[in-house]
Amino acid sequence: MIPLNFDYYKPKTLYETIDLFHKLHSIGKKPMYYAGGTEIISMARLNNIQIGAVIDIKGIPECNIHELKNNKLIIGSAITLTDIANLNYYPLLSLTVKRIADHTIQGKITLGGNLAGTIIYREAVLPLLVADSHLMIASKKEIKTLPIKDIFQGRIQLEKGELILQVIIDEKFLSLPYAHIKRTKNEKIDYPLITISALKNRKNKINIGFSGICEYPFRSYEIEKALNSTFDSMDERVNNAINNLPDKLLNDLAGSSEYRKFMLKNMLYDILKKFEVAN
Ligand SMILES: Cc1cc2nc3c(=O)[nH]c(=O)nc-3n(C[C@H](O)[C@H](O)[C@H](O)COP(=O)(O)OP(=O)(O)OC[C@H]3O[C@@H](n4cnc5c(N)ncnc54)[C@H](O)[C@@H]3O)c2cc1C
Repeated sequence: MIPLNFDYYKPKTLYETIDLFHKLHSIGKKPMYYAGGTEIISMARLNNIQIGAVIDIKGIPECNIHELKNNKLIIGSAITLTDIANLNYYPLLSLTVKRIADHTIQGKITLGGNLAGTIIYREAVLPLLVADSHLMIASKKEIKTLPIKDIFQGRIQLEKGELILQVIIDEKFLSLPYAHIKRTKNEKIDYPLITISALKNRKNKINIGFSGICEYPFRSYEIEKALNSTFDSMDERVNNAINNLPDKLLNDLAGSSEYRKFMLKNMLYDILKKFEVAN
């Protein structure tokens, strides 16, 4: 049961959606964009959220686009993880989303909802970070397209009322060699202890992103530099990568920081071996 009342709207256009958000906000309704609803409903059930209205974005045509056009893959923010895996334009993204929640919930969770959600893992962002993707963001004043690295720093930096419209990925990244490893505490279906998504780029270098290690998902150019340093031995590369983590390691009930460090080390060896950039 949800112990609070809120209004539900499902506009048909982008303009209507943004306009409605600001109108509801101005009368103190605390509106929220609603995509798959998995997080909003879970939080509402626990009384962890204050909302007076939700605006369902699944009626906006631009949020439902999922196509390859002009050498770009365009994925609307309301596209579900199931659709991403089924159409499989970008195998690294498919593999990553297939390991988020379970099969039933994947049919509800949207790409935009995973990127904008409050849980710390946001695993779907990893394949987007390593492919230098762009995000199209709509606001009251404009629609802008930004490199993901400029707008996603641990979490997505959105102003009030801004909406993720689409994710855009250059076609050249879709067929690169890739690796995805997710380690969980017990069950196969669980939040990650550590997840790694990586690509071997056209210069034979590794692009790599992590979730579950720190309190936010990230791609680190310092770690990539360490892993790609072919003058160093494999041990040196792995140790230098670990010494360049951007923040302290998570230490929680799922796993201590020492355990995560041990696991991360092994996973980095696996990645180097897989991509055969080892000495
Ligand atoms: C049982 C279960 C297990 C899970 N396991 C994992 C896991 O292992 N790894 C993982 O990464 N995730 C996992 N998740 C998913 C995660 O916790 C969120 O529930 C999910 O990502 C939210 O997506 P949604 O489409 O349902 O978003 P919603 O619940 O609709 O929205 C979530 C937030 O995003 C905002 N939002 C949604 N779309 C947009 C948009 N286009 N623009 C701007 N803001 C937007 C909403 O306003 C809200 O604040 C799991 C979820 C469940 C229920």
